[in-house]
Amino acid sequence: MFETTAEVMCPHCGETILLFLDLSVESQSYIEDCSVCCQPMTVSYTAIDGELQEVSAEASS
Ligand SMILES: [Zn+2]
Repeated sequence: MFETTAEVMCPHCGETILLFLDLSVESQSYIEDCSVCCQPMTVSYTAIDGELQEVSAEASS
């Protein structure tokens, strides 16, 4: 299993939250609720050979 953690800033409340990512998938986006303000955000990330390249979080409407 290629799993890692990454920190992103919540687009709603600005708090940094910890994400658990499965890097066996090359790219993925999914909706996650902020653990601080409970509002949904779209998390997108890419991984190459099990290494995280990019991660971002955007407000979900
Ligand atoms: Zn938040």
